[in-house]
Amino acid sequence: MREDKVSEFNVGEVGKEKSRRVRLKPVNREQMVLRPMDVERLVPEDHEVRAIWEFVGRLDLSRYYEDIEVVEGEAGRSASDPRLLISLWIYAYSKGVSSAREISRLSEYDPAYQWLTGMEPINYHTLSDFRVKHKESLDELFTQVLGLLSVEGLLSLERVMHDGSKVRACASADTFRREERIRVHLEVAREQVEQMGDPRTAEEVGPRVAKARQRAVREKQQRLEKALEELEKIRACKSSPEEKKKARVSMSDPEARIMKQSDGGYAPSYNVQITTDAKEKVIVGVGVSQCGSDYGELVSAVEKVEENMGCAPGQVVVDGGFISRENILVMEEKKIDLIGPMGDGAEQSAGQLNRRGVEAAFRPEAFRYDGDSESYTCPAGKVLRPDGKEEQPGRINYRYRARGADCRACAFREKCCPQSGTRGRSIRRAVDDPVVVAHMEKMQSEEAKHIYRHRGEVAEFPNAWIKDKIGLRQFRLRGLIKVGMEVLWACLTYNIKQWIRLCWRPQWA
Ligand code: SF4
Repeated sequence: MREDKVSEFNVGEVGKEKSRRVRLKPVNREQMVLRPMDVERLVPEDHEVRAIWEFVGRLDLSRYYEDIEVVEGEAGRSASDPRLLISLWIYAYSKGVSSAREISRLSEYDPAYQWLTGMEPINYHTLSDFRVKHKESLDELFTQVLGLLSVEGLLSLERVMHDGSKVRACASADTFRREERIRVHLEVAREQVEQMGDPRTAEEVGPRVAKARQRAVREKQQRLEKALEELEKIRACKSSPEEKKKARVSMSDPEARIMKQSDGGYAPSYNVQITTDAKEKVIVGVGVSQCGSDYGELVSAVEKVEENMGCAPGQVVVDGGFISRENILVMEEKKIDLIGPMGDGAEQSAGQLNRRGVEAAFRPEAFRYDGDSESYTCPAGKVLRPDGKEEQPGRINYRYRARGADCRACAFREKCCPQSGTRGRSIRRAVDDPVVVAHMEKMQSEEAKHIYRHRGEVAEFPNAWIKDKIGLRQFRLRGLIKVGMEVLWACLTYNIKQWIRLCWRPQWA
């Protein structure tokens, strides 16, 4: 229609108007076109897909080849080359694509994917199975990549920075149920499994659909059985019978846990732990935890780096969430220089005292310690004598107690120890291990503060990149092992991208 209007437009001088029809190129979508295509030239020489193919070609993939059953001279369809499947996944992740179906679709028309596959279509089942099938091989691949990056001089292990980040699980908060509800669902699933007949004789939907439905019901049953197992683990961490009774678990992903997010909300998540070498921000260790707190993750993160690299890092920089007295002692034992601030727990103590009804004027600071007599004197002038000690990793808490008769007769009792019953007021004197004291003194030095100031830009960069570029804000897979593999693919992609950015040059260059 637009072409007709333009063609009737009048041009020319006033009084000498004449109409003319402009000629436009037609769009013909009904013709058949046959063109020669040079697959090698689908992408330019400096395209990153060539770098990925080249890099993966340098890796030893023999573990993957061992799993291939079809061999020369025997019947059966040829298997897809692991080098191709790995390259496809790495390239797809680098473009924020994490769906096997999407890669399969892109392989039909996107030049980079076509170049990789040599214009051969690739089945999404093949891609999907490959991503989660070879856990040990993938771990070894990650280590091999680190070896190549080390040879290129991209990492030194002199200083690593570690951080944790919550990534949402493939389950919503409303899939969490208590035991009674899970048992009802499990009973229904078991009945369905028992009633299933032979899929080959299914007449209504055909054998393929019937088989797929049976698999789905069996997987649901397994998931619910796993949910009951996980529920027991959650209960084991709860102290009161009431909390144990209220414990809930997700029926979609039983291994996910409700964790606090960076925005302050709560969601089913996994805690992804990444250790980054400070030299060129290469990831040297990856882990996934079900625990929302970071305290317990530092030691396993360091061990992961040792496992990957064959030696421990010289220095580890972490935020306060990883610093506990126990971790300080373990790092000292491993001869690793630990940098990270430690809270003194003062806020927590104040909160506990408030809950016990102790007024500010009767907090431990108001009690006077006398080292010679090994006792305290309270604001009312009464003496608190030693009453045992409690040993914790990196600290000993000495307890002192006033006589019950003194406190019962005291005018300040309601302000000082309203809940102490017949016993007198007690206070604790904490004595830190010399190693812990030395760590706290070190963290006051300018050098340690300077190192710590750079923690964010190194430790948080890979986490941000993986979430932003790869789009790993929520897992596609379920379960701790599969989720771990998803993270490993993402970190593998990140490291190879670092190599492309810092080392790779196109062959013509
Ligand atoms: S309640 Fe006991 S500890 Fe507290 S001020 Fe009185 S005597 Fe001292």
